[in-house]
Amino acid sequence: MKARAKPAAPTACDPRNFKIVLDVGHTSESQGATSARNDVEFGFNLNLTRRIGTHLKSAGFAATRVLVTDGKAKASLLKRVGTANAAHADLVLSIHHDSVPDKMLEEWEFDGARSWFSDRFSGHSLFVSERNPHFTDSLSFARLLGKELKADGLHYASQYTLPLMGRYRHPLLDKDVGVYRYDGLVVLSQTRSAAVLLEAGSIINRDEEMAMNSPERQELIASAVTTAMRAYCEKR
Ligand SMILES: [Zn+2]
Repeated sequence: MKARAKPAAPTACDPRNFKIVLDVGHTSESQGATSARNDVEFGFNLNLTRRIGTHLKSAGFAATRVLVTDGKAKASLLKRVGTANAAHADLVLSIHHDSVPDKMLEEWEFDGARSWFSDRFSGHSLFVSERNPHFTDSLSFARLLGKELKADGLHYASQYTLPLMGRYRHPLLDKDVGVYRYDGLVVLSQTRSAAVLLEAGSIINRDEEMAMNSPERQELIASAVTTAMRAYCEKR
């Protein structure tokens, strides 16, 4: 028997009008962490964010914008928050790549240059701020994304609960999928829309740096973001 098509219910979320701001972490002047092979985090962030943007747009999220900010670190933070707020985004997702505190770095030689690495930790992590006016929504999206990444066989970085992380230590809000609370991040706390920060993986870990550079891993993450976004949008 053929199922009769249900009349379309009025949907709360139309992907075409759902305003997503994908924030590329850091700037060309202030490039964030340095990888084990001496590449800058900003480049990793830019590549991955563009790929996520393309993925979301082809999935129907036409109002997705990739936000690249310029300027020095501190000024750029306020600038990016200002732009995100002016855009009246429904969700801001900030993309970063992880490193470790300096005291954990070990020396090696890469390409004839003195370089630093730490293979001790790996994995992605998700951060939300309780100071964000849409904390519950932010947490909800972070959990959906964490769930997708886990389903893809990726693991989260669990070291942020450890005392050795010092000032980088954060409360773990979801120990199943790796969502941490981080109130000190301007991009999360000062943004007026729901906001999540994704540390997509560690570029100071030599193996994970290679993985993060691969189109396969980038595609996997972009796809996870899109699936999570669809679920988040439908829930609203
Ligand atoms: Zn960063």
